[in-house]
Amino acid sequence: AITLQLKGIHKAYNIGLPAETEVLHGLDLTIERGEFVALIGPSGSGKSTLLNLIGLLDKPTVGELLITGQPTTQLQDRELTLLRAKAIGFVFQFHNLLPEFTALENVMLPLLAARGRPDEAMRLRAAELIEQVGLTDVGKHMSNDLSGGQQQRVAIARALVMQPALVLADEPTGNLDTKAADNVFDLLRRVNEASDTSFLIVTHDPRLAQRCDRIIELVDGRIDSDKANRVSPP
Ligand code: ADP
Ligand code: ADP
Repeated sequence: AITLQLKGIHKAYNIGLPAETEVLHGLDLTIERGEFVALIGPSGSGKSTLLNLIGLLDKPTVGELLITGQPTTQLQDRELTLLRAKAIGFVFQFHNLLPEFTALENVMLPLLAARGRPDEAMRLRAAELIEQVGLTDVGKHMSNDLSGGQQQRVAIARALVMQPALVLADEPTGNLDTKAADNVFDLLRRVNEASDTSFLIVTHDPRLAQRCDRIIELVDGRIDSDKANRVSPP
């Protein structure tokens, strides 16, 4: 099964008439179910732009983008929001947790947004995720009171709570020290191995990229290389 497909994706930004700059120049890409992929490339090569398109936060100028087989460019905003909530989990460098809520409550948020009012099933689901990311002991702590690595684990649990087909991670370990970064990365790998979820991870860290199954390099808005990567066992 195919999780993500890009067909001839171009993206231009309007920087005021008559100028328009194209920053992505016809990308074709397929990510299969369960793939664990690194996206690398120099600053300004278009990684954030691409992630915004794949995350359905922005639309391509030309081309089609399919999520789990569904074409997306003709969808209305409301349909995009629903598809995004159902199919895509986001993990960012700065995790955007609500500081005055507990870890468990933060994980419940996407469920609440989708279903309205809290119920026991949601609490159980959130607790299950908190356990999966190794935070059972601190589930009831305010997210404010957790370490950077712990907060990133909460963000990962939150990204997974809707069982997305695809997790988009933008420098997910960018603000962590080496040890915490390794732990968070190990967690992403384990989640991937235990599920069908595909991961696309933007990273500047070559060491982390080398631990992905496939490395896509973007240069000047084009895919410069796209290679399978043999991950050496730890
Ligand atoms: P359910 O919980 O009802 O089994 P899933 O979330 O597993 O639903 O899947 C919903 C739909 O998305 C299914 O059609 C499934 O085949 C598809 N899907 C789920 N995960 C992926 C993935 N990683 N890649 C492609 N398709 C997926
Ligand atoms: P990366 O994430 O690889 O650093 P970006 O996607 O942020 O690359 O940027 C790619 C190019 O698009 C850069 O030249 C950047 O200046 C330009 N760009 C990004 N966002 C906008 C915007 N909102 N409006 C105009 N140009 C933009």
